[in-house]
Amino acid sequence: MGRKLKEATPPSDPEIPNDPELNSEKKKKKKKKNKNKDPENTIHSPKRKIEELEKTEEFSDSKERKKKNKKKKEKENKNEDEGLEENGKNEQSGIHEDGHVAVTGKDVKDAKYAPLKSFAESKLPSDVLQCCRNFESPSPIQSRAWPFLLDGRDFIGIAATGSGKTLAFGVPGIMHILKKRKGTFSKGRNPLCLVLSPTRELAQQISDVLCEAGKPCGVISVCLYGGTSKVAQISALKSGVDIVIGTPGRLKDLIEMGVCCLKDVTFGVLDEADRMLDMGFEPEVRHILGQTCSARQMVMFSATWPLLVHQLAQEFMDPNPVKVVVGSEDLAANHDVMQIVEVLDDRARDARLVALLEKSHKSDQTRVLVFVLYKVEATRVENMLQKGGWKVVSIHGNKSQHERTKALSLFKKGTCPLMIATDVAARGLDIPDVEVVINYSFPLTTEDYVHRIGRTGRAGKNGVAHTFFTQQNKGLAGELVNVLREAGQIVPDSLLKFGTHVKKKESKLYGAHFKEISVDAPKSKKITFNDSDDE
Ligand code: AMP
Repeated sequence: MGRKLKEATPPSDPEIPNDPELNSEKKKKKKKKNKNKDPENTIHSPKRKIEELEKTEEFSDSKERKKKNKKKKEKENKNEDEGLEENGKNEQSGIHEDGHVAVTGKDVKDAKYAPLKSFAESKLPSDVLQCCRNFESPSPIQSRAWPFLLDGRDFIGIAATGSGKTLAFGVPGIMHILKKRKGTFSKGRNPLCLVLSPTRELAQQISDVLCEAGKPCGVISVCLYGGTSKVAQISALKSGVDIVIGTPGRLKDLIEMGVCCLKDVTFGVLDEADRMLDMGFEPEVRHILGQTCSARQMVMFSATWPLLVHQLAQEFMDPNPVKVVVGSEDLAANHDVMQIVEVLDDRARDARLVALLEKSHKSDQTRVLVFVLYKVEATRVENMLQKGGWKVVSIHGNKSQHERTKALSLFKKGTCPLMIATDVAARGLDIPDVEVVINYSFPLTTEDYVHRIGRTGRAGKNGVAHTFFTQQNKGLAGELVNVLREAGQIVPDSLLKFGTHVKKKESKLYGAHFKEISVDAPKSKKITFNDSDDE
């Protein structure tokens, strides 16, 4: 069964408080380096640096490569479209559009599921659409998800954070509630909608969006997460709520205390499902979903589509869910991020970090997010920088929830635009305007690397990700080279020296011998023996 994974803790790192949301252990490590450019010159002011770099051969080479990659992708997508046309008779086959969105599942070609071109086309009440008033049109995932979700279909969305997925499930969730409640919001009502999130910060972020979106129509949300007092959460539950957003650990606690009743939940959402399972929350997720109404509509969002997520979808969803993939199911880095990889010695990192900050942060208050692997490392680097006179905050598992929330808020507001973070902050958080990400320590997986650097280059802006790669990380050099190449970035020779071998991905449960199954594969049958007492 899913093992609880911890925020990376070195052997000497004393065990941290029992904090299930943070318990994300990992497998291996990795790092990288930048090639023939002096990286000091590449981070000064990201915007200026990008302009400078644009003039250099290396950058134009990288832009050339990007163009080639784009053309190659367009060609591949064209071929795929043609292939799908050939399979057009098969109702289960999918439709691909504009090379970015793929939709598969039963009846997906039905006219009633046509993608929405405008918010008005959705014909939703104006109070429900209030939350979209600042947006021009539905994002690709919203445009695809709403017709299916408003029609009650089970839905799998493969889309990264920042694609607008919160409202992609949030708006149909609110509509679901309004239809069921029929304008009656009784005191003490049980929730109808449940959103499960792997981390506290992501839960809070979702909750902020849903509270705001629900306000004009009277839909109340509550966020249930660990590391903070249960009193306010219990009192909110008692007054009556419509949407519960929660992390698995705290939610399970409150269910067991008998204060959170999910029996009326008919709209369930698993956000960042891959991350949730990666963190070992599978038993909690099963337990929690088991408390909800069996005739519920189920929505699952994931950045990738690994075996365990397929299995969960098979178990808790309709046999014919709709699956919408925005971008790729394979992990790919945001192409708006300039990735600079620098191979260096472990002990050189402190001085190098300070040098980069001197250039990127001191003069123009650029918002910089520094990722480390270990909690003790976060504290050490924070202390080191503070001693050097830097104003810095940090977010990691050894901090109380109050401290974490405060640090994030100071960073978001720009009051303290320099933050050290472990991977708790790597995924899911929508932090505007992070201009530079520095990977002081390479993460344990390439997936985490991609998610970390995805904190910059958001909303169509350019970003810079500067990564230290050491000898210790050489096992991930091959994967990193692939990520860099796919995004048309410079691959430094010093990184290539580690080799380009890529290990076959293993299933946590079945090792390297697991078999990929498709979501359409027949379900396994459960056999119940009449004399069995294990139900
Ligand atoms: P996500 O974390 O995937 O929900 O994405 C959240 C970000 O997407 C926020 O910055 C939102 O302001 C933005 N967003 C959501 N919907 C839209 C839309 N239709 N058009 C533009 N931006 C959007």
